[in-house]
Amino acid sequence: MRYDYLIVGSGLFGSVFAHEMNKIGKKCLIIEKRNTIGGNIYTEKTEGINVHKYGAHIFHTSNEDIWNYVNQFIKFNRFTNSPIANYKGKLYNLPFNMNTFYGLWGVKTPEEAKKIIEDEKAEYETKNPSNLEEQAINLVGPTIYEILIKGYTEKQWGKPCTQLPSFIIKRLPVRFTFDNNYFNDLYQGIPIGGYTQLIEKLLEDIEVKTNEDYFENKEKWDNIADKILFTGMIDQFFDYCYGELEYRGLNFETEIKDTSNYQGNAVVNYTEAEIPYTRIIEHKHFENSDSEKTIITHEYSKTWKKGDEAYYPVNDDKNSELYSKYEDLSKNYPNILFGGRLGMYKYMNMDEVIKEALQLVEKEK
Ligand code: FAD
Repeated sequence: MRYDYLIVGSGLFGSVFAHEMNKIGKKCLIIEKRNTIGGNIYTEKTEGINVHKYGAHIFHTSNEDIWNYVNQFIKFNRFTNSPIANYKGKLYNLPFNMNTFYGLWGVKTPEEAKKIIEDEKAEYETKNPSNLEEQAINLVGPTIYEILIKGYTEKQWGKPCTQLPSFIIKRLPVRFTFDNNYFNDLYQGIPIGGYTQLIEKLLEDIEVKTNEDYFENKEKWDNIADKILFTGMIDQFFDYCYGELEYRGLNFETEIKDTSNYQGNAVVNYTEAEIPYTRIIEHKHFENSDSEKTIITHEYSKTWKKGDEAYYPVNDDKNSELYSKYEDLSKNYPNILFGGRLGMYKYMNMDEVIKEALQLVEKEK
């Protein structure tokens, strides 16, 4: 065995794990099937703008240890995520706050806004909501639901809200202040110079081989290290022996525009069902780039099929049950560790991924 650990996948999970194990003298090799490192947080500089190639990524956390952890590698700017919703050509602020309510009803005080929402909720309440539509109306009333939730959610999941389970939306935060900051976390920002630099720093002393799919040379890779950390799809690892887990897919259409400012904001969500994309990202606004051009990405949500890039696990009862079977099976393989959003079949933000990776490091130590 030439390595202590073979790490399959150079995303944030694999990179943090490799960095920490290398620090304590363990020899690590990363293989990555893409021709780029960083998994979904990979950014690429074009026209002086760091383009988030696999979707907009905003780092946010309330965990001071994790914030200090990432800041030892790279500086973050003070970006605050304040998305805009475009519904039939009219713009609204997100998350739902006094600016949104002013746009919807012209109300100027929290008291007026609260009254409208409470009256709507009381009038349209469903006891024991059986689907997402009923649940959302119970939480915020029909106006906010129709304009800001319905179309967007249906595009995201590819199904009418009446056919989606109510548990998808447990709470819908409503703010009665004029505060457009999407996240409630204490710390928030974008790495200055892009996320790829963060990954490059983590992997400074690690051997990495890109364009290497573990499954194409499985026998070779299985015999190269004492242990394997696998951050790809756990169902694929076990050759789908219990069946396929479900994911949601995404399509990105990116174009350079000959203008310095296309939409005036990093994220604009399109909340009506008739517009096929879910949002437009204008990458330069993540970092106030002074490029004379701009780069925008239309993001489309799509049904995932085998062979597509898997973006979001679908953690409903059926898939969670199936995942448990794979998780149980993985316990028979003590030298194979599973990590990250695909290995653990769990949507995690970047701060949670780092926390999980550091916990695995402690366990391995
Ligand atoms: P990944 O980044 O998916 O890395 C796994 C890697 O393994 C990939 O590079 C893959 O190519 C490689 N791999 C898989 N199979 C194989 C194989 N067989 N052989 C070799 N290599 C393989 N989080 C936030 O905190 N803030 C955000 O704003 C945010 N926005 C997001 C937006 C989108 C559209 C998505 C999809 C996620 C977002 N996230 C966000 C979550 C964030 O992307 C994840 O927390 C993080 O990137 C997960 O890292 P990972 O290492 O687990 O997975």
